[in-house]
Amino acid sequence: MSSLDAFAEKTLADLDAKTLRRNLVATARGAGAGVVRGGKALVSFSCNDYLGLSLDPRVIAAGQAALARYGAGAGASRLVTGNHPPLVALEERLAAHKGKEAALVFGSGYLANLGLVTALVGAGDLVLVDALGHSCLFAGAQLSGATMLRFRHNDLDHLRGQLAARRARHGRVLILTERVFSMDGDRAPLPDLLALAAEYDAWTLVDDAHGLGVVEAGGRAPLEMGTLSKTLGSYGGYVCAARPVVDLLTSRARSFVYTTGLPPACAAAALAALEIVEAEPERAARPLGLARRFTARLGLPEAESPIVPILVGEAPAALALSAALEARGDLVVAIRPPTVPAGTARLRVAFSAAHTEAQVDGLADAILALRA
Ligand SMILES: *Cc1c(COP(=O)(O)O)cnc(C)c1O
Repeated sequence: MSSLDAFAEKTLADLDAKTLRRNLVATARGAGAGVVRGGKALVSFSCNDYLGLSLDPRVIAAGQAALARYGAGAGASRLVTGNHPPLVALEERLAAHKGKEAALVFGSGYLANLGLVTALVGAGDLVLVDALGHSCLFAGAQLSGATMLRFRHNDLDHLRGQLAARRARHGRVLILTERVFSMDGDRAPLPDLLALAAEYDAWTLVDDAHGLGVVEAGGRAPLEMGTLSKTLGSYGGYVCAARPVVDLLTSRARSFVYTTGLPPACAAAALAALEIVEAEPERAARPLGLARRFTARLGLPEAESPIVPILVGEAPAALALSAALEARGDLVVAIRPPTVPAGTARLRVAFSAAHTEAQVDGLADAILALRA
């Protein structure tokens, strides 16, 4: 066996021993939060398609029309010939939705954060990241070469202490947080955080991957980024900011400049989805309403977003609970370290406008019975 293959096998065996190996499962999604997995039909509580828009006929038709008219791919990077009309229209609409002067679409949310953070800060600067921030926020901070510190999750006293102790020693300071935290479903205290940042002339980036279209409260940061792949049901990432900031990123964000533009169908589908988000507020309110119905039934603190964590502790127990729910027809994938901190393996329940009240109540009652 080659040393490469031996390295892979040994590392996988170590992961197996800790129940931390990950495996792909072929999954076909369908209407009404249904999925077929391993030949079995299940109701999914593990999709980020909060408004069911990835399967909405209007969104699909918009993608198909752009595919037929502009082709399967962008053909080049945005700065060469890949800046096709659906992307231009989408950026205008995203900026308007966020109340910003401009928007820039990237290949994905992950790429947006890498490009954004590295274009705005570097050696000598400081990045302060919420401890429960998404992997790509940490990756961007590390790649930038700036000094990186974590502040305790949503702890503004800790953040204030870091700013007071360190601000004067650094040129630019960037704070990275999320409107809705992806694995906990709670929200950042944005109005107070933005006021604190302003006191210290620190810039704030809010990752809105799980907020756009479903939880919009909390004010706007100077840098609002997110993804086209969750509520907007498509694929891609974006940032909205003032015009000079977006112009700077257009020239300097490496994950924007040196990569091919998003396919026309992705941009057109996301634009159609954003139009539905704005036109149908009752649909946009539904996932949070269902999450609150669920937390009330389980006696949990009231949900702040469509994401509700059921904390279990160790990975094997989380996998066992997930398997028991799957046996009765509910798909709630277990989330394990390093996606979440050690000892906090959990089920992450995500509600969608496509769920029925009966499906939500059925899941709550099954969890109550299994944990009794
Ligand atoms: C999903 C997610 C991203 C990445 O977005 P993609 O478009 O899927 O790359 C970034 N930040 C957070 C908080 C996310 O949940």
